[in-house]
Amino acid sequence: MEVRNCRGCGRLYNYVGGSYRNLCPDCVKKLEEKFQEVKRYIEDNRVASIRQISEACDVNPKQIEQWVREERLVFSDDSPIAIFCQTCGAPIKSGKYCENCKETMSDQLDQLYGKKPIEEPKKKRSATAKMRFLDN
Ligand SMILES: [Zn+2]
Ligand SMILES: [Zn+2]
Repeated sequence: MEVRNCRGCGRLYNYVGGSYRNLCPDCVKKLEEKFQEVKRYIEDNRVASIRQISEACDVNPKQIEQWVREERLVFSDDSPIAIFCQTCGAPIKSGKYCENCKETMSDQLDQLYGKKPIEEPKKKRSATAKMRFLDN
């Protein structure tokens, strides 16, 4: 058992791992409630900026950005919110890298291991495929 200081409230707690490292179970619970609040707010205010969300929900903009990076929060295409690709700086809506960089990276891995890229499941594509199938 590992004992750590909570980054949120400073209390000592038993560290058990998971995605919220450095937070005690109480703070994880509070943060999770915040997350749900932010998510609801975004559903009602699709074009809100990170600043607006941060002020309306009283949550650190950095925390919002982290949720976006973790792909827990996804913004609609008309949302002004963009975070930036960690490789080339292109604006993206979720995750860490833009589509171009993801492709480049998988190509590089490809060359590195001499393997074919693992095909990512793409919802849109399979929907089109089904429609084509029906047309035939
Ligand atoms: Zn805490
Ligand atoms: Zn990029």
